[in-house]
Amino acid sequence: MYEQLEKLIRLQELDHEIGGLGRKLAEIPPQIEETRLHLAAAERAHDAGKTQVEVSRKERRAAEKELEAHIDKRRKFQEQQAKVKTNKEYQALMGELEVLKVEETAVEDRILQLMEGQAESERLLPGLAADVAREKAEFQERERVLRAVEERLSGELAAAQESRAAIVAVLEPSSLQSYQRIQKLRGTAVAEVRDEFCLGCRTKMPSQNFMEAMRNDRILSCPHCHRIVYHVKPEVRPAAAPAEQGQGPAA
Ligand SMILES: [Zn+2]
Repeated sequence: MYEQLEKLIRLQELDHEIGGLGRKLAEIPPQIEETRLHLAAAERAHDAGKTQVEVSRKERRAAEKELEAHIDKRRKFQEQQAKVKTNKEYQALMGELEVLKVEETAVEDRILQLMEGQAESERLLPGLAADVAREKAEFQERERVLRAVEERLSGELAAAQESRAAIVAVLEPSSLQSYQRIQKLRGTAVAEVRDEFCLGCRTKMPSQNFMEAMRNDRILSCPHCHRIVYHVKPEVRPAAAPAEQGQGPAA
């Protein structure tokens, strides 16, 4: 086969490989980010749980102080009780004491509720902490695996780019220009012709063109899509995938 044609075929294989590797590499950061989001959500839930415990504790302490103040106040009223002279004063004091007792009971009830709330929040904390630990371990493992894949793909990409540069260096400028021009226009620049059909545009070629293309001895273009064409002898053609040979699993 004409050496420049062979190189163009290899160049297209490498471009295909480079494109595929680039796409796979681009998928890795979002995958890592997604796992990181799971961890962040678990951490937020844990933080919210801790805040809730702290808030319950503060509310409970405040209510306890309130209760102490009530008890102090009531004690003072009780001390005054011994000193009152008139029945009217006594009645007024008794009224105040009744109000204070009702208020005290309400504060005691609130303290009980706050204690229950605090206990409930505290009970949830170990589970939330375990969620964080699990998500963290999952994230670290997933990141480790994905970074290893990324490293392997980067190595493959560098090797493919190196091979590509080596080919570009020895291609004739006119061949490279044709390749780049058609690739830009069609996505692919080189196509196999098989059974008189250009596999690039799936169009039948004139017999004369096909006969010429079969020789693989120069740069020839498909008259329809202008892709650079080459021919592979059926006996050296790589075996098709099982599905294409009709031996795949029954539909
Ligand atoms: Zn064509």
